[in-house]
Amino acid sequence: MTYEGVLAKMQTEFGNPIQYYLVFENSFLNVNQLLHKEIEITFQGYQCLNCNKKKKIFRQGFCYDCFYSSPAVGDWIMRPELSTAHLGIADRDLEYETRVQLQPHVVYLASSSEVKVGVTRKTQVPTRWIDQGAEQAIAIVEVPNRYLAGITEVALKNHFSDKTNWRKMLTNDIVSIDLLAEKLKIERLLPQEVQEYFHLDKNDLYEMHYPVAAYPKKINSLSLDKTPNYVGKLMGIKGQYLLFEDGTVFNIRGSEGYIVSINV
Ligand SMILES: [Zn+2]
Repeated sequence: MTYEGVLAKMQTEFGNPIQYYLVFENSFLNVNQLLHKEIEITFQGYQCLNCNKKKKIFRQGFCYDCFYSSPAVGDWIMRPELSTAHLGIADRDLEYETRVQLQPHVVYLASSSEVKVGVTRKTQVPTRWIDQGAEQAIAIVEVPNRYLAGITEVALKNHFSDKTNWRKMLTNDIVSIDLLAEKLKIERLLPQEVQEYFHLDKNDLYEMHYPVAAYPKKINSLSLDKTPNYVGKLMGIKGQYLLFEDGTVFNIRGSEGYIVSINV
């Protein structure tokens, strides 16, 4: 059976284990069902996720022009503290930025290769944590806009990492830590304007269980630009990565906007 379409990050469903779906224009695929099976991935071309033109992908599924013009990839996405919609100030498109920035955001701690601090829109919980391959995660504060979440993250970056080491995450080289105990230490580190949002009565600790039959010991990242055709036996899915028996890992999110055919 062959599936063909433009890659976008896998959709997920929280469960034990987490369910993963590849969604194409005319079909979708529950990737969990491919575990222990051989699959073939073939590169067919590019299609920008924003303008749909068949242009080479520059970053995050966007062509060069879209990456530098679309409000969906402004600097405040990666650096929430640069958000300015709460002041009525535009970066690229105030209407878009108001809609995305002025909604509840969560600052969280997540454990994987280390404990990291991060920011997400509340609607993206627990999707964001699954996409990062976190083992466990806990919300620290829920704030009404992206800016407040951003300055909280900046304050906590002095005490926690803000990145996951993806090699360690994919080889299951992970830390075991009590995130609730870490959260208790954090209140005094929060910026003044955020302290009122710190509550100890909301302590839902999320645990993520990924569909992985065997973790690789050494990994090689698959790039469709260099290797346009790949065949391998799928042994797991974690974060947005497919893990194969030969140690190859394929970052679906890193290949957004690539048109592929998948033969199963
Ligand atoms: Zn484009």
